[in-house]
Amino acid sequence: MPPQLTPRVQTIQGVRLGISTDPESTWKITIGYPHSTQGGVISSITPTNDTTPSSNSYPLALPSLVHPHIHLDKAYIHNTPAYSDLLPITGSFREALSSTTRAKAQFTKPDLLKRGEWLLAESVAAGVTAMRAFVEVDHTVQHTCLEAGLALKEKWKDICEIQLVCFAQDPIFSTEFGDENRRLVEEAIRAYGPGQVGVLGTTPYVETSTEAAKKNIEWAVELAMEMDRHLDFHLDYNLSPLEEQPEPLVWYVLRILRERGWTSRATKKRVMLGHCTRLSLFKDEDWTRLAKEIHGHDLPISFVGLPTSDIYMAAVPSDSATKTNPRGTLPVPDLIDKYGLDAVLGVNNVGNAFTPWGLADPLSLACLGVGIYQAGTVNDAELLYECVSTRARAAIGLSSASSELDPGVCLKCGYPADITLLYDVDDTGCFGDGESESRSRKTVAEVVWDPPSKAKRAVVYRGRVKMAALSTDCSSGFRFVE
Ligand SMILES: [Zn+2]
Repeated sequence: MPPQLTPRVQTIQGVRLGISTDPESTWKITIGYPHSTQGGVISSITPTNDTTPSSNSYPLALPSLVHPHIHLDKAYIHNTPAYSDLLPITGSFREALSSTTRAKAQFTKPDLLKRGEWLLAESVAAGVTAMRAFVEVDHTVQHTCLEAGLALKEKWKDICEIQLVCFAQDPIFSTEFGDENRRLVEEAIRAYGPGQVGVLGTTPYVETSTEAAKKNIEWAVELAMEMDRHLDFHLDYNLSPLEEQPEPLVWYVLRILRERGWTSRATKKRVMLGHCTRLSLFKDEDWTRLAKEIHGHDLPISFVGLPTSDIYMAAVPSDSATKTNPRGTLPVPDLIDKYGLDAVLGVNNVGNAFTPWGLADPLSLACLGVGIYQAGTVNDAELLYECVSTRARAAIGLSSASSELDPGVCLKCGYPADITLLYDVDDTGCFGDGESESRSRKTVAEVVWDPPSKAKRAVVYRGRVKMAALSTDCSSGFRFVE
């Protein structure tokens, strides 16, 4: 069940904004409802003169969190007794592909709805109010995953915006099922409008030949353009040396987009490239060439790094039976800072053979980024927050006209009232006596370095609040619309 929500909020009094240069200042957020049928928009953010001594009680108010890439239908297979015979034995990528195919043969609508709700519940509790959710379409599951995704999208629409991807995880130009898989994907994209299924996604690397992978790319670009959808590729998911043929398929994607005329000027639809672990072998000149090609041809491309999956699965090929070979994942902060590319961070999978570890919490992912990218400065932490929040939202094309590609870690007027509130709730049992002061997080960097538990978070979506785990003390700052 989606969580209970409060009535519409008019003001939130006494919040910090996580400003690293002025962490102690407090603010009042006013939310307006310009269109009666639509949600709340932040109409003003003004300083308050609150001088209450217990300043730790002021929550931190940040832009809400976003999953730019998460698999809704494959979540929590490992937590479901019906699939207990499919738990990993070797932990290899090949095993994950085959055991997930076997699991998919057993998927039923009630099972998909149950596991999907587990994922949505965890995500929303973490502060997620928007997501790009992949649901697979192929000869094994037909349209069952898609139909479950549509049901969940409708059921959870008051607390989370779910953008569905009609996703071909399986080959569509090779193997005996290629033609049928392709037909089912095309049928689905034609049957539902962009408001229901906003994205077409495929996996060129599962095709059995480079020629078929290239056909996959051409077909997907053409169909997405014709049907006016965003496009999302799982691409170059290996660490084969760059000297080896074929070259990374990213170059072919750029070429086809260019030849077919997909530019920022021609369409508002975007293209996302996921995994791309092989690009982590790029030298400076390769990145410079890639950035030049993307910028020079005005291609609306974002990259999504999926480090929890990548460091588990994307290893340098090795003949040895050990698992000590080096790992690779897209260097997301460098893509942004050094090459001016658009890049974000996604959870990808939870509770399945592709990624048996990790949380559905974008903040834990941002925290992991600190270690993986050696990103230890305050600016780094703020960039990592953007990668699971404002940048992620813009990259999946959900930004409204007023907030297009305008990242940042501060709430802004004119934006939808989607807010994560982080409270200083003592969960150690050591700071309730008023004598000693608990360690509250007052800046974005402190939140990324050491994410607070979900019990300390409240979620505002379009002006209404989910407060399940919070005490009534925390609601004192809210004034609701009469
Ligand atoms: Zn994925």
